[in-house]
Amino acid sequence: MIDSERLLRNLEELGRIGATAGGGVCRLAASAEDGRARDWFVDKLRSENLRVSVDAVGNIYGVAELAGQGAPLVLTGSHLDSQPSGGRYDGAYGVMGSLEAVLAVRARGGKAARNLAVVNWTNEEGARFSPSTLGSAVFAGSVATEFAQSRTDGDGVTLGDALAKIGYRGSDAPPRGVASYVELHIEQGPELEKSGRTIGVVEGNWGTAKYVADIHGRAAHTGPTPMKERRDALLPAAELVLFIRKLSDETGGALLSSVGRLDVLPNSTNVVPAQVRLFAEFRAEEAAMLDAACARLEARARELSTAAVSIELVKTVDRKAGKFDPALRDLIERVAGECGYSSMRLSTIAGHDAVPMRAACPSAMVFVPSAGGVSHHESEFTRPEDLVAGAQVLAATLERLVT
Ligand SMILES: [Zn+2]
Repeated sequence: MIDSERLLRNLEELGRIGATAGGGVCRLAASAEDGRARDWFVDKLRSENLRVSVDAVGNIYGVAELAGQGAPLVLTGSHLDSQPSGGRYDGAYGVMGSLEAVLAVRARGGKAARNLAVVNWTNEEGARFSPSTLGSAVFAGSVATEFAQSRTDGDGVTLGDALAKIGYRGSDAPPRGVASYVELHIEQGPELEKSGRTIGVVEGNWGTAKYVADIHGRAAHTGPTPMKERRDALLPAAELVLFIRKLSDETGGALLSSVGRLDVLPNSTNVVPAQVRLFAEFRAEEAAMLDAACARLEARARELSTAAVSIELVKTVDRKAGKFDPALRDLIERVAGECGYSSMRLSTIAGHDAVPMRAACPSAMVFVPSAGGVSHHESEFTRPEDLVAGAQVLAATLERLVT
């Protein structure tokens, strides 16, 4: 059994680090706040006699040697970083729940064939450094360490330098011989709450494609410049915004899309926009639907690009839809029932560290309900009994995996 009081107390304490006035948190990856959360977490790991290591991209591991050095490892965890006005549960719950689960399995004793470790992955959110899920992608080998370290934030600071500044550009080798990875997370959607179930067994993830379009025109006075001479970079941007929405509407909403950000230069009321940077994304459960949307957007951008106003479109994220490990999914479902909790299967639309981890080892995810389906918002909330239930199911799952 997990120590449910300690789990809730830890989440409460962690939620005070980088707390915002609206009841959420701001712990951007490798920021001072993230650094304080990491220090607090490492103290917890050390005080529980877990072996702490930090790799070159700042991933923090706390290993419980249940089977002795060199034995294969079962890994569980999530992330302590947040969105600028994030909630207290996204990521933080997974890390704290994993710590409790690891301690519960160790406390139970008995024979183990595998070691167990909790991990905090660096820059899951992708809010300060792009792309998201960087730390887990480096671990899984799909992204090079040097590439991750050289990512820059809006001020030109590299992830490597930011990590060094808070003392988490580590030199330890990441643990090897990982047999499986299980991640506990809030659902961030409304399905569990709507169905009245407690545990979500995640089948797989939707595909995601993200684009950056750089549109180049020329600045000019909005008064005397004749209309036919204006090279307005915002016009094709507006066309793209509407086109992207149209692609979703044509699928009856099955294809999710948005343009979340437009950077307009010089962004002055009486200057014709010279440059626009547009950030767009698509998400879909079916790979074919996502591929079709990408192809049509790329074709539309080529069509709109002219000598006067050119468009450079770059795909920055290409996350394929995929499934989690079937045996692990079945195990989680069975264990949830044995623990006395109702469960259902669902897919994740959001990205998670468990997605890149599939390349490293069999991986799976456990979800608990999000009140109102709200996430990436300060009002994010999950009921204490659901937080306890998820950690309990994780502990029971890990127990099977280490024996
Ligand atoms: Zn998360």
